Order: sequence, then structure tokens, then C-alpha cells
Amino acid sequence: MTDSLLIPLHVKYIQSLDKRTDELEYWLTEHLRLNGLYWGLTALDLMNNIEALPRDQIINYVKSLQHENGGFGGHTGHDPHMLYTLSAIQILVTLDAVDVIDKDKVVAYVVSMQNEDGSFRGDQWGEVDSRFVYIGLMALKLLKRMDAIHVDKAVQWVLQCQNYDGGFGNTPGAESHSGQVCCCVGALALTDSLHLIDQDMLGWWLCERQLKNGGLNGRPEKLEDVCYSWWVSSALAIIGRLHWIDKEKLSQFILSAQDMEDGGISDRPGNMVDVYHTCFGVAGLSLIGYPGLKKVDPVYCMPEHVIARIGLKK
Ligand SMILES: [Zn+2]
Repeated sequence: MTDSLLIPLHVKYIQSLDKRTDELEYWLTEHLRLNGLYWGLTALDLMNNIEALPRDQIINYVKSLQHENGGFGGHTGHDPHMLYTLSAIQILVTLDAVDVIDKDKVVAYVVSMQNEDGSFRGDQWGEVDSRFVYIGLMALKLLKRMDAIHVDKAVQWVLQCQNYDGGFGNTPGAESHSGQVCCCVGALALTDSLHLIDQDMLGWWLCERQLKNGGLNGRPEKLEDVCYSWWVSSALAIIGRLHWIDKEKLSQFILSAQDMEDGGISDRPGNMVDVYHTCFGVAGLSLIGYPGLKKVDPVYCMPEHVIARIGLKK
């Protein structure tokens, strides 16, 4: 147990990720390489260490992943997907380098993923999920091109995903889940539509995700997990109810999931660390005001100073 964030160790851990090519895990997560870069870079920036990764190399790599249709693949030779397309834009905006890619093509790709009913597909295979609405809206918002899609239809579709318990599911009628709540609330925030939902009821569902050990879970009866420190807390922050959970206990839980020897944060104490949980652990700590970290923006999961620089901070 430690009660402080081991920043130098986490920086070293993130730096080491790209050099572990002899480990099976490196290859198993190949499809997530671009997302991994976004998670690593975001965590580093929040920890005031963005220069720990080589800026120009990252920009060239991201640029190389854009396909003819405008979308981005997760790694060299991989098919384009909305998940990677958003990561690419988030990385380039963070590095103030979004002009190196063909933005019109990205916009065209995102537009092509919207369905007639307002929902979005993740890729050419057509899977529909509330995550993709959030991704599509955020990608276009960061590129200042929200006008290119049917925003009203997207909002109406997101509202259909809200359940009687106040939470949101991945499609209309699906069970409430924190990850989807974060995406739907983010989508409503991006479109100035938060007034359309019952925020108190949603706030109750969210704050009931905190367990005795301080950690947050994804839905009732499930185990706590560091990544929900982000999914739940960011949604609470967006609706102005972050004080409904015990921040001190959450902070202790996240810190207890650190690898004290090699750095990185895991889903819960004692498990293997990964860059995904490292990012959302650090972002969660930033959101609840952990000292010494840059502030994170709850809607974009990007450093607040970046969102302010591009003029999107309210
Ligand atoms: Zn997790």
C-alpha cells in the first residue's frame, strides 16, 4: 500500500511499452496499439511528462494509419474503425498536430458511419453501440465539424438508450452500464442536451457504483475496477454531482492498484498492470483533484489545457 501516485515509475512503465516486443502481450494487443498510444500520452500529459514519448515519431505513425476512406486502423495494416479514428484525432489534437492529416476525409468517414435513425456504426461491419455516437460526435467536435451530421437524430437515439433506473445501455432497451453511461452523458454534453434527462436519478445510479473499499463498479453486483474510476466519475462530473461519491476513498483505491516496483496501474490491487487502467486511474485521480496532476476534461478525457487551447472549454 502506498498513499501517493508513483509518477516517475508510471512514466517509465509507459515509455517501456513500445520496447517490449519480445513479450506475448505486446503482440496480443497489437490491434490496440493506437488506443494504447492515446492512453499512454494522456496519462503522461496529466502527469506533466508528455515529452517522455517522441512527438514526431508518434505523429508520423498516426498519420500512416489513415485509410483512403478517411478512417484510422489500430495499427499498420489494420482495418479502420471509429475507436481508432477518435484516438488518432485525440492524439493529434493533444500534440497540436491535427493539420498533418486530411481532416475532410476523417469527417467524411465519420459521416458515413451514421445510420438513418441517428445511431453510429463502429466500422464497415455495422455494429451499433452508444459508444460510437459519443465517438462520432467527439471526433467532429474536435475537428469543429459537428454541422456535418444529423446531431438532433443522434441525440434522440441516445435518449432512447436511457433506462428507467436512470442509467444508459449500449442500445435502446439494453441494461445500464457505467461505460455506456459515460458515453451517452458525454454525447449529451457535446450537444448541449443534458437538460433532456433526469440528472438526479442518473446521479443516484452512478453514486451507487461505489463499493465499501472505495472502488467503483460497472453495474450492480459487479466487482470494482479502476477503469470505472473514470467512466463513473466523469459522468458524475459532467452532471455536477461528483461530490456524491467519497473521493478520498476512491483515491485510496486507485493508488492501491499501482505496481510499486515496475509502475503502471491494474484493474484492481494485485493484478497485472496495463496502459488502459494506468490512463483511467490517472485520469480518475486528476478528476477528483489529486495534487500535482494537470486537470482532465470529463467530456473529452483529454487534458483541460488542450481543450482550452482549441477553444472548446466552456
Ligand atoms: Zn477495467
